[in-house]
Amino acid sequence: MPESGATDVSSEMPAAFIGHGSPTNALESNVWTEAWSGFAQQIPRPRAILAISAHWYINATAVTAMSSPATIHDFYGFSDDLFAVQYQAPGSPHLAEEVADLVKPTWVGQDADSWGLDHGTWSILTHMYPDADVPVVQLSIDASEPPDYHVELGAALNPLRQDGVLIVASGNVVHNLRQVQWQRPNFGFDWAREYDETATELMAERPSEIARLFEHKHHHLAAPTPDHLLPLFYIAGLAATAEFGTEHFAEGCHLGGLSMTSHRLEGAGSVSEDPG
Ligand code: ZN
Repeated sequence: MPESGATDVSSEMPAAFIGHGSPTNALESNVWTEAWSGFAQQIPRPRAILAISAHWYINATAVTAMSSPATIHDFYGFSDDLFAVQYQAPGSPHLAEEVADLVKPTWVGQDADSWGLDHGTWSILTHMYPDADVPVVQLSIDASEPPDYHVELGAALNPLRQDGVLIVASGNVVHNLRQVQWQRPNFGFDWAREYDETATELMAERPSEIARLFEHKHHHLAAPTPDHLLPLFYIAGLAATAEFGTEHFAEGCHLGGLSMTSHRLEGAGSVSEDPG
C-alpha cells in the first residue's frame, strides 16, 4: 500500500457526507469543491477511504475488492473531458475483507470485477485527494433494505474510524432532477430548503432518527428515489454512536431541486491540522 505524508491513526477519524451534485464538479473549482478539499486538508491523513456512493445502488450490500479499481463513467451527455477523467487510486482487498468481517452477520459481497469507483466517489475525491494516493474501497447501497438498515450498518462501521479509515458518503439530501431548473444556480424551492433544513437539524441533534425524513411532508418531492439520500444515513449511524452531532458545511440548494449541503462528523480526540 503506498504511503505518503503522515498517517495519523492515533485518534478517531472524522467522517463526512458530501453533497456531490453534477459530475461536472469533478472538473470545476467552485464554492463546493473548495469546501471538499478544505475538509480533506483539515483532517488527519487516512490510511484508506471507504466511500459510500449513491451511484452504486443495487440489490445487495457489497464492497469493491480489487487492487486497482476502474474509473467508471456512469453518466451520459457530458463532455469528452469528463469521460477522460481517470482516478487511479489503489483499491484495498484487505479493507474490503475487514468491512465484511466487521458487520457480520450482515452479509457483504466482495466484488472483484463488476464495479470500481463511480463518479459519486471520484468527482469528490479528485478534489479531496487529487494525487489519488489513498486506497479506496466502495460500499454499495442495498436498494432492497429499509431505511433503518442503512443507519445500523453505518453505526457498525464505526470501529474503522479508530483504525485510520475515512468514511465518506456521497449523495445529495435533496435530489429531484425533474424539478431542476438549469438557469437558477444557488436557488432552492421552498420544499427543497425546508427538507434540507430538517435533515440538517436531525443530523446535528437526533441522528438516530434520520429515517423520519421518509415521513416528511416533502419527502416525495425531495427524494423521489432514495438513492442520493441514503448515503447520509450511514453518517447518521456513525453520528448516533458518537458523543457529538454533525456540523454542516458547503450548505445550500442549487438549481431548484438539489441540495449541496454536506455534513461532517468530528472524531473523538481528533485535532484539525495542516496536512504533512
Ligand atoms: Zn449523483
